[in-house]
Amino acid sequence: MVVSVNEALRRVGESFPFSWEGKLKPQNYAGETVAFVGTGKLSGAYVYDGKTFRVDAEAEASYETTCARCGKPMVETLAFSFTEHFVRSVFKTEDDELYPYEGERLDMTEAFFDNFFLEMPMTTVCSETCKGLCPVCGADLNLGQCDCSKNKTDARLSALGSLLNDYKEV
Ligand SMILES: [Zn+2]
Ligand SMILES: [Zn+2]
Repeated sequence: MVVSVNEALRRVGESFPFSWEGKLKPQNYAGETVAFVGTGKLSGAYVYDGKTFRVDAEAEASYETTCARCGKPMVETLAFSFTEHFVRSVFKTEDDELYPYEGERLDMTEAFFDNFFLEMPMTTVCSETCKGLCPVCGADLNLGQCDCSKNKTDARLSALGSLLNDYKEV
């Protein structure tokens, strides 16, 4: 995700488009490894103001995850956008929110993944209608009802039955 910005450095205030597509390396995040599927995409424009670069970007990445309801492996595609600023690394300070660059190249890899993980949802589901697993026997309810739900209904009915009996006795 490196773009050459030698033109922009000479033409202050002018916006330059860029686009990148390629494989994404697995990333460690919150103690887990996130693996990507297919290619990641990044495109947008950058402009130099004489001191810093402003980058406006649209990005997309598909990654492996599991359904929060049924636990099946699945691929989620996340589209996101961001605006970040880059400053020559010698001018970068500890507490600014700028990304460093060197020479005439902007490496957007760090900005891409920082924003990806900001946008990544905590949980994903394979389908909005996924019924998940039975909490009692662990059966995949997408494949049909298990016996637990039938038994539960029976239990409820008999409880109601005894309740009615109690009521009659009073
Ligand atoms: Zn599911
Ligand atoms: Zn069950």
